[in-house]
Amino acid sequence: MARQLIVLWAASSPIHTATGRFRPPPGAIDVDDAEPLGTIAAADELGYYDPIRIRVRDCRRGGVDDRVMTRSRVTVLMANPRGFCAGVERAIQIVETALNQFGAPVYVRHEIVHNRHVVEELEGKGAVFVDCLDEVPDGARVIFSAHGVSNAVFREAERRHLPFIDATCPLVTKVHREAQRHHAAGREVVLIGHADHPEVVGTMGQLPRGAILLVESATQAEDVAPRQPDELAYVTQTTLSVDDTVAIVSILKRRFPKILGPRKDDICYATTNRQEAVKRIAPRCDVMLVVGAPNSSNARRLVEVARHAGCRQAMLVEGAADLDWPAPEPVRRIGLAAGASAPEIKVQEVVAALGERFDTAIEESLGPSETVRFSLPRALNA
Ligand code: SF4
Repeated sequence: MARQLIVLWAASSPIHTATGRFRPPPGAIDVDDAEPLGTIAAADELGYYDPIRIRVRDCRRGGVDDRVMTRSRVTVLMANPRGFCAGVERAIQIVETALNQFGAPVYVRHEIVHNRHVVEELEGKGAVFVDCLDEVPDGARVIFSAHGVSNAVFREAERRHLPFIDATCPLVTKVHREAQRHHAAGREVVLIGHADHPEVVGTMGQLPRGAILLVESATQAEDVAPRQPDELAYVTQTTLSVDDTVAIVSILKRRFPKILGPRKDDICYATTNRQEAVKRIAPRCDVMLVVGAPNSSNARRLVEVARHAGCRQAMLVEGAADLDWPAPEPVRRIGLAAGASAPEIKVQEVVAALGERFDTAIEESLGPSETVRFSLPRALNA
C-alpha cells in the first residue's frame, strides 16, 4: 500500500512536470495552509523536474522528510542551419539603413519579414508598418517587404510619387522574372503555392489577372484545367515543403508532358537547408520545437517536415513564453529548429527556458554552412 504523505510547495514557484505545468493532485496543499494530500505514488507520478525541495510527511510515522527532486536530463539537438536567411537579413538591413540614411519615420508595407520580434525592434527604431499604401502619407518613403509585391503596388507608389525601396528577396524576384518570361513567350503559368500568402499574391500580380493558375495541393494538380495544356509552364513559391512540391510537380508533368519549369522547383536554398536540417534530427527527437511566427510559411513547413520525419510531437513556438506544453513521457531529446525569419535571440531564449525546466545538454547537429549574401538596393548604397 502506498504511504500517505504531504507535499508542500511554494505557490509562487510554478513546478513543471513531465505532463506540463504542475497541477496539484486531489488533496494537495499549498505551503501556506499545510494540510494532507495524496500518496507517495501520486507524488512520484507527478515527476518533479525542477530542483525544488519537497516536504514529504509519512502519515503512518507522522514525520516530515525533506527531499530534493531532480530535473530530468534532456539533450537539446540544435538544427543547423536555422534562423535568418540572406533575404531576411537583407530586408532588415534595408529598413535599418533607410532609417539611418533618411531618418524616421520610414513606412514599411506589410511586415518586413514574418516575425513579431523583428517588427517590434524596427518599430522601436522608427519604422511604421502599414497594410496598404493608403496609409502612407504623401511624400513619405516606403519599403516593400521581402515577400514581394504585385505590379499594381509599384504602379500605385509611382502614381502617388512615393519614394519607395524594394526589399523583395532576390530569389523571389527571380520567380517573378520566370513567370514574366513564360507569359511573354505565350505560355500559361501554373503557380504552386499557398493562396493569400503575400509572396503568392505578389507573384500572381506580376501578370494580368487570370494569366496564372494557382495550385495548392496534389489534389488540385490532378484537377487543374489549363486553357493551353500544350503551352504551359510552372513556377513555385520559395518556401514550400520540398517533398510536397516534388509530388505536385510530378503530377503536373504526368498530366502535361510538355510543361516547362525550373530544373526542379523555385524553393530557395534557405527553405531547403532548414527542412533538411529538421529531417536529420527529427527522427531522434521526442519533441521538436520550431521557433517562428504562425504566419511564417517557412516555419510552418518545418513543423510538418518534423512530423513526417517521425517526431511524435512537433510544434511552432514564437519564443520562451510558448513553452508551457505537455511533453510526452519520457522526454530524452528535444529538437530545436528555427524558420528563416526567426532571430537567433528567440532561439536562445527557448534554450534558456528549457534549461530551467530540464537538466539540458546542448548538441549542435552538423549541417551545410550558408554563404549566400545579397547586396542592398542602389538607393541605399549611394
Ligand atoms: S526564405 Fe528564401 S526566398 Fe524567402 S527571404 Fe529567405 S532566402 Fe529569400
